[in-house]
Amino acid sequence: MKHTVLTGDRPTGPLHLGHYFGTLANRVALQGTHPMYVLIADYQVITDRDRPGAIQRNITELMLDYLAVGLDPDQVTIFQHSAIPELNQLLLPFLSLVSVAEIQRNPTVKDEIEHSSQAAVSGLMFTYPVHQAADILFCKGTLVPVGKDQLPHVEITRLIARRFNERYGRVFPEPQALMGDSPLLAGLGGGKMSKSRGNAIALSATADETAALIRKARTDSERRITFDEANRPEVANLLLLAGLCLGRSPESLAEEIGDGGAAALKSVVTEAVNEFLRPIRARRLELDPDEVRKVLLKGNEVARERAVRTLDEVRAAMGF
Ligand code: ATP
Ligand code: MG
Repeated sequence: MKHTVLTGDRPTGPLHLGHYFGTLANRVALQGTHPMYVLIADYQVITDRDRPGAIQRNITELMLDYLAVGLDPDQVTIFQHSAIPELNQLLLPFLSLVSVAEIQRNPTVKDEIEHSSQAAVSGLMFTYPVHQAADILFCKGTLVPVGKDQLPHVEITRLIARRFNERYGRVFPEPQALMGDSPLLAGLGGGKMSKSRGNAIALSATADETAALIRKARTDSERRITFDEANRPEVANLLLLAGLCLGRSPESLAEEIGDGGAAALKSVVTEAVNEFLRPIRARRLELDPDEVRKVLLKGNEVARERAVRTLDEVRAAMGF
């Protein structure tokens, strides 16, 4: 079956290994065989902070990350929220299709409110999953490569598509999520690895920065290394990270390290991550930020044209 793929990221900082194994690897694998849109969710930056911050720089860095991991602008449309008014306008009819209680139940919104830097919950934070429905449905996306934290949002999107179709006649598909090898990679201090939580290994970090981060990571006092997610989460997380980078099971790595202890574990992880990121870092250095900006302008044009058609269809279906 031919899918339309839609996914994206907030320009809040550099992409990290959680992005790679949660969603970027799937994007690279699907490009070329399916039409794909990749969204830079710039409006969503202000869901959990007062100001967009270094937004232009973050957008350029995000583009460099995309191209460095192998997204091909000839096969993928990369665009930004703020350049597509018609996408954002879909938020109005979509908000009318969900109840406040349904939004309130969303576990990811609850988690993000907890980690937000704002004293009060803004209306935008509260409703951003509905905005994400507009992101996915503006291009009639059917497949959404995302991490586990996004599953409740894909569910809301399906609900909105279904209700819209029931009320106004069939316009939208009901998209499905596609999870990667690691749907919820933990950060170095535990919890979800996140750009905004200071616990991430960035794809663009240098080898030395990566080594320093891993050196500081917590382990435990038991010498022998074993893979035990329930009782030894810090050690297990490091083993998982190295395993993902090496394409090996964390159990087999634990067995190999055995009595080498935390020091040997950290040197295995550092080596694995740095080897894995070496070609990505090298490609990044070859990219020209001016060319990258042109890619984004072109993507914005293509996405806008798509959004105009969908909004026309929505207005016609609703009788406006
Ligand atoms: P922020 O902390 O600013 O929200 P983030 O690290 O959560 O940043 P997002 O831009 O919110 O990154 O998420 C982009 C995509 O990457 C989403 O599909 C999300 O599910 C996925 N993703 C983010 N972090 C992880 C992770 N630790 N493991 C797996 N997937 C992840
Ligand atoms: Mg996030």
